[in-house]
Amino acid sequence: MVIFADVTTCSMKQGLVFNIEEFAINDGPGIRKTVFLKGCPLRCVWCHNPEGLSGEPQIMHGHDGDEVCGRLVSSDELAELLIKDKDFFQMNGGGVTFTGGEPTRQADFLMEVLAILKGKVHTAIETSGFCAEDVFRKILELTDYVLFDIKAVDNDIHRKYTGVDNTLILRNFKTLSFSGKPFVARIPLIPGVNDSLEAMMAVRDLVEGAPGLERVEILRYHKTAGAKYHMVDREYDPPFDTDAVPEIHDVFKHCIIL
Ligand code: SF4
Repeated sequence: MVIFADVTTCSMKQGLVFNIEEFAINDGPGIRKTVFLKGCPLRCVWCHNPEGLSGEPQIMHGHDGDEVCGRLVSSDELAELLIKDKDFFQMNGGGVTFTGGEPTRQADFLMEVLAILKGKVHTAIETSGFCAEDVFRKILELTDYVLFDIKAVDNDIHRKYTGVDNTLILRNFKTLSFSGKPFVARIPLIPGVNDSLEAMMAVRDLVEGAPGLERVEILRYHKTAGAKYHMVDREYDPPFDTDAVPEIHDVFKHCIIL
């Protein structure tokens, strides 16, 4: 958990960060710092980051007692912290990835940080794509790389397991596809939810052929995520068999399993 000084007076936007992970190797090119922004409008029943759902600071019950999850930080303070590793990132082809939660939930703050980092540090966002289209376009202009999560192309399945309609997500995905921006399509593979051949083929039809697509990444479901829920006073009760092994269908041209 990263600790920032208290922000009291600042003209820059402030954002709520709940973690910064060092040496991340699966969040974009090279070795990266991954910044977790608080707040997400989705409620995926398998979510691995329940502490990122609320857009407010909250008490997290840990082994060593309670602590506050979520620290306010100004955009220039965060950018300054990230720029310190500029040479390291340049050496290994890495950079910074913003995730969450859903990073576009704090769009103004995110855009300010991205604007400061532009040209200095390689940036990526990991997003569900659930964000206003004009905002998504602006963020796309400011970032170098995108990890776009695709939970389900079928809207009924999407609504049932994430709580939101995917029309906006698919529109933003189209915008990303046509932009030519390099990206990875990420599929959290959930047993009995989106692991059918039909579901995989629908994702394949959506993503294959997009100019910027580098590869598909399949993220395995881990039921260990459930352990964190009680720490933020939430119940983990996913409506699928958490012991089932999801089927992996070989339908993509370039795909890795994480
Ligand atoms: S989009 Fe990501 S952070 Fe939000 S609920 Fe789904 S898995 Fe969790």
